[in-house]
Amino acid sequence: MSLAFDDYGRPYIILRDQGQKKRMKGLEAYKSNILAAKAVANTLSSSLGPKGMDKMLVSPDGDVSVTNDGATIVEKMEIQHPTAKLLVELSQSQDAEIGDGTTGVVVLAGKLLEQALTLLDKGIHPLKISDGFDRACDVAIKHLETISEEIDIQANDNEALVQAACTALGSKVVSKRKRELGKIAVTAVLDVADLARRDVNLDLIKIQTKTGGSVEDTRLISGILIDKDMSHPQMPKEVKDAKICLLTCPFEPPKPKTKHNINISSADDYKKLYLQEQQYFVDMVKLVKNSGANIALCQWGFDDEANHLLLQNELPAVRWVSGTDVELIAMATGARIIPRFQEITPEKLGKAGCVKEVQFGTSNERMLVIENCQCTKAVTILIRGGSQMIVDEAKRSIHDAICVIRNLIKDNRIVYGGGSAELACAIQVLQYADEVSSVEQYAIRSFADALEGIPCCLADNCGLNPITSVAQAKALQLKENNPRIGIDCMELGTIDMKEQRIYETLSSKKQQIQLATQVVKMILKIDDVIAPDDY
Ligand code: ADP
Ligand code: MG
Repeated sequence: MSLAFDDYGRPYIILRDQGQKKRMKGLEAYKSNILAAKAVANTLSSSLGPKGMDKMLVSPDGDVSVTNDGATIVEKMEIQHPTAKLLVELSQSQDAEIGDGTTGVVVLAGKLLEQALTLLDKGIHPLKISDGFDRACDVAIKHLETISEEIDIQANDNEALVQAACTALGSKVVSKRKRELGKIAVTAVLDVADLARRDVNLDLIKIQTKTGGSVEDTRLISGILIDKDMSHPQMPKEVKDAKICLLTCPFEPPKPKTKHNINISSADDYKKLYLQEQQYFVDMVKLVKNSGANIALCQWGFDDEANHLLLQNELPAVRWVSGTDVELIAMATGARIIPRFQEITPEKLGKAGCVKEVQFGTSNERMLVIENCQCTKAVTILIRGGSQMIVDEAKRSIHDAICVIRNLIKDNRIVYGGGSAELACAIQVLQYADEVSSVEQYAIRSFADALEGIPCCLADNCGLNPITSVAQAKALQLKENNPRIGIDCMELGTIDMKEQRIYETLSSKKQQIQLATQVVKMILKIDDVIAPDDY
């Protein structure tokens, strides 16, 4: 599209290939965008909450995954529509920033869009709607801060952290084991956390999955676990006081390029070549050993010849260590990644207390653990489960729990879940609406309705009557001035979420409301869509 001016200086728009393009303007554009985005939110709404449904997603090449994680669902839905894609990004930015609450943020955006549609039908200008939502959002965020509570994360064996992790895990496939998994996640995060600086480097927690066994076999290993074993079965199974040489070059003689030829015309020639190749290996092994290394971890492979030589020279080695593992090991042991044998020097070696092979369960498969790394503590959560689908979902769930714990270490304020915080904000926003005399009043009221949509959705998903349960909770919140009243999804007999101990982080709730409002405002600003005709 380009802007041009005619002889009189009047502007006009030139559309390239206009015949093949579709153009929507004004109200039609707003509505079509909103409907597309709402469709995505609607698919997610049945996944929200502890009794939310899971989705089965089949990729074009037939891989099946079953998940409850909002960010993963929208990512795998392969959405084409450009405005609907904004919701995918919305979920992903919540995931990147906070880690949990990826379904809730999309559902809230959907509810806001629904309200925007009715307001548009009433003839309210999109910018007024946008402004109203913005002001309501500010009120909601302020109110969230006033109802938030500080928790003592260390009290009672970190009980509060475990509870928060349990809330995050409660809606997942692995919810039966939420307490065990929650404890594992808390220990892992605390192991690598820097409590004085309130900082956690999540890169130091490695999550390794291995099918087999069941979810309750999941455990925490202090050290870095890599799914590899020593390259030769006769190499020692344990190396104490390990000095690790971390190589990203292959243990093999240089290969001739395709444009070169080697002519071997006699047995002598062949022998010479063989000896020369041997010499290469011998030199490489020597370079490693001379530096003082007692174990070599190699990102590449090496053949049997080299393997045999390594064994003969008593240099335990591991091949095909993945790139991410190489980086993690370098970070934890202080090793420098060495790209050429000539560059090996003693200072570049990493140090660890022990590198040993371990075996899990009754299977024959062995893995390596690197313990007591010199630089930083690193831990591994080894996730077990009956099938690839289960371990993958368990990995995503534990990731959510870990993020929640990290967020609490950064900021120890919580609000209560089960829709109670949203409901409290809705009440506050409604009160505020009465003070506004302009048109925005309608939008502000609608914002409150959208917030109420979250407890509604939670109630609906667990088979309760959404209208009666939300009305009951709202009445009680007002009567007792208690912002902790929510939806009793698990039918535990109390609607006070503090008694149910449904902890959610303040940072996550704040982010959810802010991000959802932002995206809706963005969609409401689009009044002209020019696109190829075929979508
Ligand atoms: P998200 O991907 O947004 O985290 P979840 O499926 O984890 O979505 O659902 C989170 C919602 O479920 C939150 O609003 C939370 O307050 C609520 N919730 C979680 N556990 C419970 C529970 N035991 N009872 C009531 N509500 C719960
Ligand atoms: Mg969650």
